[in-house]
Amino acid sequence: MILEVKNWTGSLDFKDSPRLVIQTTSTYTKSHDCPCVQAETIRDRLVRWLKRNDIEIPVLHAVIFPYASTIINKSSFINNVHVASELPILLKKYENLPSLIAEDLFHSTITSLWSENTPFTLNPLCSKYSILPSDLKNGLFCSTCDFHLLKKSSRSYYCPNCMTMPSNPFADAMTDWFFLVGPSISNRELKAFTNTTTSYIVGYFMKSSGYKKKGKTRDSLYFNELVCK
Ligand SMILES: [Zn+2]
Repeated sequence: MILEVKNWTGSLDFKDSPRLVIQTTSTYTKSHDCPCVQAETIRDRLVRWLKRNDIEIPVLHAVIFPYASTIINKSSFINNVHVASELPILLKKYENLPSLIAEDLFHSTITSLWSENTPFTLNPLCSKYSILPSDLKNGLFCSTCDFHLLKKSSRSYYCPNCMTMPSNPFADAMTDWFFLVGPSISNRELKAFTNTTTSYIVGYFMKSSGYKKKGKTRDSLYFNELVCK
C-alpha cells in the first residue's frame, strides 16, 4: 500500500479539472499538485515494476493528512483521502485478504526492489546558482509556513504564526542544508546554520534526525542518507 502523507494545514480544496489542491491558511493561499495524482503515479510505477518481475498483486494507495485540524473540502468522487486516525480502520479492512504470493518470493521481491532503488543525487542549489552558503538566512524556520520558530523549552519549538510544533526542527534544517549546501554537515555547521548556541542541544536533535552519522569524535559528520530503522 502506498501512503502519501501531507503535513498541510489550513483549509484544502480539491479541484477536479485540473487536479489541484488550493490550500488557504490565515496568512497565505497556495496551489499544489493533487497528492492523489502523486500517489496514483507511484502506484502505477510499482504495478509496472511488479509486472516486469512476473508478480501480479493489487497495490493500494491513500493520501493521509496527519492533523485533524486540517479542513478537507473534496467531492465524493475522491475516496482515497483520509486523516491519520482513520488509518487503523483502513488497514484492518485489508488484513484478512488472502495471501497472494509465497513468503520467500515476497522477501526476494523486496530485496530486488531495494537493489533497483537508485538514490537521487542532489546538486546543491548554492553551487548551482553560485550563492555563498554564508549569505543564507540562518535560524530555525517552520516547514509549513516558513515563519521563524520560537523556543518553547530547551527541546521544543513552535511556530508563532501557524502554531505548528515540529518534532525535530533541526532535522528539517539538515534537510535544507543538504538541498542548499552539500551532502554532509557537522554539529558546528548546524549550530551556525540554525543560530543556536548550545552544541549539546544540536547534537541531541542530530542524533534523532534519522540521518546517517560517520565518526565518533566532535568532528563527526551527518550525511544525506537515511538510516533504516
Ligand atoms: Zn508555521
